[in-house]
Amino acid sequence: MNRTPLGRVGQVKQITSLSNPVIKEIRALGLKKNRDRSSSFMTEGLKLVIDALDQGWQIRTLVYAKDAKSNANVENVAARTVAAGGLVLEVPQKVLGAITRRDNPQMVCGVFEQRYTALKDMHPKPGETYIALDRVRDPGNLGTIIRTADAAGASGLVLVGDSTDPFSLETIRATMGSIFSVPVARSDIDGFLKWRDARDALLVGTHLDGAIDYRTIDYAAAPTILLMGNEQAGLPAGLVERCDRLARIPQSGRADSLNLAVATAVMLFEARRHLLEV
Ligand code: SAM
Repeated sequence: MNRTPLGRVGQVKQITSLSNPVIKEIRALGLKKNRDRSSSFMTEGLKLVIDALDQGWQIRTLVYAKDAKSNANVENVAARTVAAGGLVLEVPQKVLGAITRRDNPQMVCGVFEQRYTALKDMHPKPGETYIALDRVRDPGNLGTIIRTADAAGASGLVLVGDSTDPFSLETIRATMGSIFSVPVARSDIDGFLKWRDARDALLVGTHLDGAIDYRTIDYAAAPTILLMGNEQAGLPAGLVERCDRLARIPQSGRADSLNLAVATAVMLFEARRHLLEV
């Protein structure tokens, strides 16, 4: 007798058709308006689904390929999904491929509730570094920055202004799971500046015309907020004039500027150099 969670009647739905309404809904999460409406998003791969559950993210639906049925980890994740009140779907690999738009899809994907941290709940403390991104546009840049923020031990990220969606499939893929551990807030410029004014933190803007070499700033003196500009336009004057420091990463060669995610990584690891050990 099969005693595994996957064997219990009523807890796993077997779906073979792409025209099934639940499958259609999951596929529709490729569009931002549908992610916004349902406040959900999709993540791919067993490891990332386990990471998300371990970090307390709320799962709504688990989808696994029929071939993965006997995998003990998949069974365990299915049991956790059921315990969390979620739906478990067993599908042929071709359905998973259509959901994830990949020829060689992962054997598992999960639909989770979106989660933002309220900006008012972010309180920079000594030794902490936050990143603020002005109107970030590129999903790959945003995902890479979230992953780098995680690796460098940043405490959170603020999306300022009209930004790309942190819950798009492309961004989620680029975060490699770090979306589940880095708090993300969003704000307009006024809200961001008010938040910053009410906190004892050093606002370090980055700009190609910055007067200060980024390596000369004392990042240990106070919690730091690194403010990075939009990929095309850089930081607007309204933000530049409110920075405590305007830093530049010296360059040689013919490139006008660094890619936003690369510049953020350079800044982050310098700002946290005194805190990071091998
Ligand atoms: N054309 C834009 C400009 O004139 O600012 C270039 C923007 S750059 C691709 C995106 C962001 O990365 C910049 O706004 C800045 O925050 C950061 N950045 C890139 N290279 C930098 C550098 N050498 N020094 C300081 N910040 C840099």
